[in-house]
Amino acid sequence: MEPSIELVALDLDGVIYRGDKSIPGAAWFVERLIEHNIKYIFVTNSTLHPRRFYAEKLNILGIPAEEDIVITAAYATYRYLLQKERLRHFSVFLLGEEGLRRELAPLNCDFLNERESRRADYVVVGLDRKISYEKLCKATRDLLDGAKFIGVNNDNLWPVEDGYMPGVGAFVAALKAASGRRPYIVGKPNPFMLRLAMEKADVERDKVLMVGDKLDSDVLMGNRAKVKTALVLTGVTSFEEAASASGLLKPNLIVEDLPTLWRAMERGLL
Ligand SMILES: [Mg+2]
Repeated sequence: MEPSIELVALDLDGVIYRGDKSIPGAAWFVERLIEHNIKYIFVTNSTLHPRRFYAEKLNILGIPAEEDIVITAAYATYRYLLQKERLRHFSVFLLGEEGLRRELAPLNCDFLNERESRRADYVVVGLDRKISYEKLCKATRDLLDGAKFIGVNNDNLWPVEDGYMPGVGAFVAALKAASGRRPYIVGKPNPFMLRLAMEKADVERDKVLMVGDKLDSDVLMGNRAKVKTALVLTGVTSFEEAASASGLLKPNLIVEDLPTLWRAMERGLL
């Protein structure tokens, strides 16, 4: 039986790889998609590197990918601002590093630094390992003064090889507390990235499958976008957690790994 799915959107960490190691069966799964003419796209909350970096990392792991099928939260922030500010020149105060700055560079905007007294139109918060009190001051003052508040994602923790580091969400929370303002979060679980993926692939949502390892980001995003969702157990979620999820956190299918997912797709379970 041929799967009815025409586009598979895949999270990266915990689905395709863990750190620098590929998860067994991931490359095999993508080969099956290619063989059956099913489109695939990667959707990640990462903000640190340009899309090309992830495409190259996938290639090294034996998975064919060009940068245009990698949607990062950094790139999605670029698309969001582009869509909001088509007509005017605007300004951004950015908490973020080179990768995020490079994604946003084509926008028709000025990037203000923390010493600039002029209020930015947007405060954009990504991952910034050179965060300082001065930068937090500038962001807080601009937010109090009415700047729009954008979080690239809202992940409190950033998983690295040997444990965790504070993620973007920790800085979004600090600025929320200081300014009393509510941010607009571009990354998962906002369905915005998935909509970009569907638009790029030109596939209707009833033929789209979102695959991830996290209930409150991947699955929630997929359900909000009204596409099918599958949770793989190769990442951060246990079977017990997945099986007891309800409402918008509940995936259509829980599978051990990507090869098991492929067999379910072949049997028409999705
Ligand atoms: Mg993940």
